[in-house]
Amino acid sequence: TEERLRTSEKLSAVGQLAAGVAHEIRNPLTALKGFTQFLQSGAEGKQEYYEIMMSELNRIDLILSELLMLAKPKASEFAWLNPELVIRHVLALLEAQAILKNVQFLTNVDGSLSGMMGAENQLKQLFVNLLKNAIEAMPDGGLITIRLQEQADKRICFAIADQGSGIPQDLIDKIGVPFYTTKDQGSGLGMMVSRKIVEEHKGTLQIESVIGEGTIVYVRLPINRESGEMEEKRK
Ligand code: ADP
Ligand code: MG
Repeated sequence: TEERLRTSEKLSAVGQLAAGVAHEIRNPLTALKGFTQFLQSGAEGKQEYYEIMMSELNRIDLILSELLMLAKPKASEFAWLNPELVIRHVLALLEAQAILKNVQFLTNVDGSLSGMMGAENQLKQLFVNLLKNAIEAMPDGGLITIRLQEQADKRICFAIADQGSGIPQDLIDKIGVPFYTTKDQGSGLGMMVSRKIVEEHKGTLQIESVIGEGTIVYVRLPINRESGEMEEKRK
């Protein structure tokens, strides 16, 4: 029965997500319909309409590509990997964007790290999401520090600290709720996907933030997922 309960919980989560997706996609679709009708009637100011239509189409595209992340198969991709190399690869991916935004990355690896079991592409997606948020939190640029540390409890701690605007304490709980965003061009799906990836790795994600000073996101992942699982059961 416990298993069945969990399945029904999952189904309702899927139902909630589906309702959210339908809602989020219907808004831009309604706008697109309206503009198509305008254009059909030979309205003036076409260029402006096309631009709005394009940005609505981009929004749908963004929402769908983030959702596809959730649909990807998991378990089988787990392999032994080097967490430092994963971070270096992600930083290389984001380098151009960082330079453009006047953002500097500083990596700080404490002692020597062992490897860990993980799904490399998912972990890359996780850190891209977190680092993008850090970059976007600093419109005037600044420093992002990425600290890697092996903990005594056989987990790797990744701490990503920015010097951004910070997050009001009462809003921290909303982060990761599907479609919660404070950005004009945000999808509000990045942190939900991130939490899901951390969960699949039996890890934890914690956000600490001080208004006007910045935000630190701590991701702690077990070196072996099985030991993380045992840890979970003990609780
Ligand atoms: P999006 O980035 O599309 O808005 P996310 O799920 O990635 O969606 O993030 C949700 C919200 O959480 C953001 O809109 C922002 O308000 C807040 N947030 C996340 N990371 C940070 C950060 N490092 N600094 C400040 N706010 C953040
Ligand atoms: Mg984001």
